[in-house]
Amino acid sequence: MKLKILDTTLRDGEQTPGVSLSVEQKVLIASALDKLGVDIIEAGTAIASEGDFKAIKEISQAGLNAEICSFARIKKEDIDAAADAEADSVFMVAPSSEIHIKSKFRGKSEEDVIQISVEAIEYAKDRGLIVEFGGEDASRGKLEFIKRLFDAAIDAKADRLSYCDTVGVLTPERAESIMKELSSQFKVPISIHCHDDFGLATINTIYAVKGGATEIHATINGLGERAGNAALEEVVIALEVLYGIETRINKKNIYNTSKLVEKLTRVTIPPNKPIVGDNAFTHESGIHTSALLRDSKTYEPISPEMVGRERLLVLGKHAGRASVEALMKEYGYKATKEQMLEILNRIKEIGDKGKRVTDADVKTIIETVLQIKREKKVKLEGLSIVSGMGITPTASVKLKINGHEKIEAATGLGPVDAAINAIKKAISEYADIELISYHVDAITGGTDALVDVIIQLKRGNKIVTARGARTDIIMASVEAFIEGLNMLV
Ligand code: MN
Repeated sequence: MKLKILDTTLRDGEQTPGVSLSVEQKVLIASALDKLGVDIIEAGTAIASEGDFKAIKEISQAGLNAEICSFARIKKEDIDAAADAEADSVFMVAPSSEIHIKSKFRGKSEEDVIQISVEAIEYAKDRGLIVEFGGEDASRGKLEFIKRLFDAAIDAKADRLSYCDTVGVLTPERAESIMKELSSQFKVPISIHCHDDFGLATINTIYAVKGGATEIHATINGLGERAGNAALEEVVIALEVLYGIETRINKKNIYNTSKLVEKLTRVTIPPNKPIVGDNAFTHESGIHTSALLRDSKTYEPISPEMVGRERLLVLGKHAGRASVEALMKEYGYKATKEQMLEILNRIKEIGDKGKRVTDADVKTIIETVLQIKREKKVKLEGLSIVSGMGITPTASVKLKINGHEKIEAATGLGPVDAAINAIKKAISEYADIELISYHVDAITGGTDALVDVIIQLKRGNKIVTARGARTDIIMASVEAFIEGLNMLV
């Protein structure tokens, strides 16, 4: 039987500090999660707010394949809200450690918690809900009490059980042994809910599965309270590739879904994050690149295509002969041995000064050493920007493209956005260019600082990086964009 996935990006993930999603955004993410193939979408907490209620209702009515779930406490009003929002199920939790009972159910005993849980489960079943019943903070509770609690929950007709590592203190060994014990005693599906406070959420989730968990809780990009939850992409890929345990996830959709969640939550994915980080399939080192060009498996445990990505080769300080040769071949340049040595030395020189070497830098170096004078196809002849308060930032540009003058205007969220939009519009009939990343550094402190903009542009399956450095952030951005365009058109 395939392992079930409950995705809680829209509930625990939305509890990430600083994250707040609109109803429309939640519906978008839910439909992406459905395409990704998650079995259960925990879409929010129906009782929490009008927005959450509305989102769960719209997602429930969207005709998705996944089971739609609402979080609930062991309270009648929480269950009513979930049922009224037309959720299929509730993920309902009861405090199951001494500290949680003391601080949340003041003056109540363990027996009281069992009693209240039983009543809540029976009520939820009466309202036609599937009940996944969880012990909150179970990993800091006594296993003896949790078993009594689960026993009562099963008697009350709970459909599934959940063991929650609410503050991330589980270890792989405990996760496996506890899950072995629980799954041998309880014959209903049992899930594991892990947090990443010690960086162990992924491995704890995997060991729980080894111990007998048949369902896991996870979030896209590992979003969630504090250090976050187990990251769906990490757990799924590790389980399938390293442990041979299958899920229903359409792995090719992983990257798209991750980027959508990044965009809508505005929580940036760290570049070194497994599977979905910018650097996960990017190679810079010269020694690596030449072996990689021969066989990609040399330095990649899985192919980027498996998760819907592409390999990215970046020329940098460590750029070796192979990657420079690949670039030269692309542009139709040929160099003698001495010229090649000189090119490589100059690339290292920039890197040694602590600067990032862009494709544009490398191209300029090659052309300088080979003494090729290149006529730029796209030239900026004029730029004006209107920005301020109470008006929409607007830019107009005058470009010369292949000798033809082109004037365009566009608006944007800010002046840089407006300027880039205007250029994109002007160039649109010549080439379809996509901006993949935009990175700004102020070289020195102060408002007069030199601003270094590094961007990545994409056309078809070709990606280039280019830089612009100016005291004017708009000009630096435009310069970088135009430089990138010249390498792509
Ligand atoms: Mn949680």
